[in-house]
Amino acid sequence: MTDAARPDQPWTYETAAVQSAIPRGLGQTIGFPIHAAAAFQFDSLQEAQSEFQQNTGLSYARLQNPTVRALEERLTVLEGGVATVAVASGQAATLTAILSVCRAGDHVVAASSLFGGTTGLLSNILPLMGMAATLVENTPEAIGAALQPNTRLVWAEMISNPAGDVADIRALAERAHAQGALLAIDNTCAGAGFLCRPLDHGADIVAQSLTKWAGGHGSVLGGAVTVGGGHDLTRNPIFTEGGEHSILGVRGDAALAWRQRWLGAHQLGMTLSPHSAFLIAQGLETLALRLSRESETALALARWLSAHPQVGRVSYPGLESHPHHHLAQTYLRGGQGAVLTFEVPDPAAFLSRLRVLRIAPNLGDVRTLVVHPWTTTHGRVPEAARLAAGVSPTTIRMSVGVEALGDLQADIEQALGAADSR
Ligand SMILES: *Cc1c(COP(=O)(O)O)cnc(C)c1O
Repeated sequence: MTDAARPDQPWTYETAAVQSAIPRGLGQTIGFPIHAAAAFQFDSLQEAQSEFQQNTGLSYARLQNPTVRALEERLTVLEGGVATVAVASGQAATLTAILSVCRAGDHVVAASSLFGGTTGLLSNILPLMGMAATLVENTPEAIGAALQPNTRLVWAEMISNPAGDVADIRALAERAHAQGALLAIDNTCAGAGFLCRPLDHGADIVAQSLTKWAGGHGSVLGGAVTVGGGHDLTRNPIFTEGGEHSILGVRGDAALAWRQRWLGAHQLGMTLSPHSAFLIAQGLETLALRLSRESETALALARWLSAHPQVGRVSYPGLESHPHHHLAQTYLRGGQGAVLTFEVPDPAAFLSRLRVLRIAPNLGDVRTLVVHPWTTTHGRVPEAARLAAGVSPTTIRMSVGVEALGDLQADIEQALGAADSR
């Protein structure tokens, strides 16, 4: 039993992040106790049998753990969903979300401006299982045109990395639903529902990496899939085959959430550890503070860099020059995210001179991190696709942390100056 984990409670994000889903019981700790357990004991044969039939409580920790469950309840509140399964990484969340509605013979349509790991999974792993994905330009028209009769899922990122494309959720949901497909949004860069709750705008599934803003300190890996209510599964044979014995017949409204837990945790064993769940739940408590501050600093840096004589194109959805600025205005609240890209004349020299900004392939850390996507995160992506994703040989990607704006500017300034005078 936990405190006030109901989606109908009137709390704001900031309050829900620290007050929701705190487990009651042993010790009555205010935070999340870590249940270091592989299994849970029963008092009788009947109790064990009933648990194995119902699968609602605790038996074996690959399926559920109280610490992980409390994190799941908190994420459900923050995303405005109905149920969440937490898994070991963002990649595991993506796989869980896809397999929950797709099987051999099925098809996924995705916006091409995706996180590299997602592109890899769609292009390399789906074909191993007899599924296919089509990656198209990130517009509702292009995505709508790529839908096929066997398309079960449309996939887009709320704020894409590094291009900063913003998903037009309502337009995508309309097109997906008309075809009997569901819409899944990767909400990683919108920070666990803080900048946007895609389920409020018609998305059916939110998948995300908790490694980034949720964890927030570069110290833990995790991922989660949250489902909303009201999705239509009646046109997907995975859920309808078998009539009254079908998944839909047996599980009703809980069919999709049930299948996601069954796949991600129970069957595939991509379970999140309780220690990681604790770190992530604690990270969520300061996410609103961090990401609103980081968004403010990112906007200030984007404007400053745009006017800087040694810096080329700056891309940030908070800038009016960004092609998706209007979508950012429509869908994002509390900031436009912490990720921006900019062009410098000599990336190697620039990076080597930095003293405050750190070179690391992560996002959402409290420290400001930079990478050269051309040679690292996007190094294996074909050149044309790299350019299409907004990555050129001179692009720097930055995930803004919570440091003082002036210190970041001073470090960038000296790194640009020093690079220039070599
Ligand atoms: C990092 C990331 C992922 C993958 O998450 P991991 O926790 O690294 O497995 C998925 N989507 C986006 C947008 C990401 O940034």
